Amino acid sequence: MAAKSLASCIFCKIIKGDIPSFKLIETEFSYSFLDIGPLSKGHALVIPKYHTEKMHELPDEYLTDVLPIAKKIALAQGVKNYNILQNNGRIAHQEVDHVHFHVIPKPLEGDQEG
Ligand code: 5GP
Ligand code: ZN
Repeated sequence: MAAKSLASCIFCKIIKGDIPSFKLIETEFSYSFLDIGPLSKGHALVIPKYHTEKMHELPDEYLTDVLPIAKKIALAQGVKNYNILQNNGRIAHQEVDHVHFHVIPKPLEGDQEG
């Protein structure tokens, strides 16, 4: 399915390069970059190049592209402890209405390298 974007969406603007970001990995279906408000060093986001608000609305080819990227980020960062987080809807703490997956390293206390 062809990429889909929404002019008013900040993550669609990041994909287009209209808002700057620290890019990590880009594929035909996905874009990943560092979170602007990191919960830990290396906190990354992986977003599909298809604008939908929630995960269940996403075409499968976009959805299945995400996890291998999250895996590459975790491997590249060399983290042993991390969370993959994906929020859908306000009550579930989604703030940006473009599907995104967090990769959040969990450093040991006092050890920013994880
Ligand atoms: P949510 O709570 O929706 O799951 O998480 C949204 C995430 O997007 C937050 O962690 C927030 O810091 C991040 N974020 C929001 N706006 C921007 C931005 O313009 N650039 C980047 N790099 N991250 C953003
Ligand atoms: Zn969007």
